[in-house]
Amino acid sequence: MLRDIKKVKCHQCGHSFIALDIEDNASVLSAPIHCPKCGAIYPNTVFKKVLAVVIRFM
Ligand SMILES: [Zn+2]
Repeated sequence: MLRDIKKVKCHQCGHSFIALDIEDNASVLSAPIHCPKCGAIYPNTVFKKVLAVVIRFM
């Protein structure tokens, strides 16, 4: 299910593009966004929040 449309910047090549925020298998997780230029997988916001928590406890 489509949730949002957002502008993201690729963390590898710096290419800015419009991406669709789509629910992954009807869960709270967002489907991974692929950069149209270099193909890198853009980490979704939920992943970043989890990563931030993990780093805090390391
Ligand atoms: Zn890229």
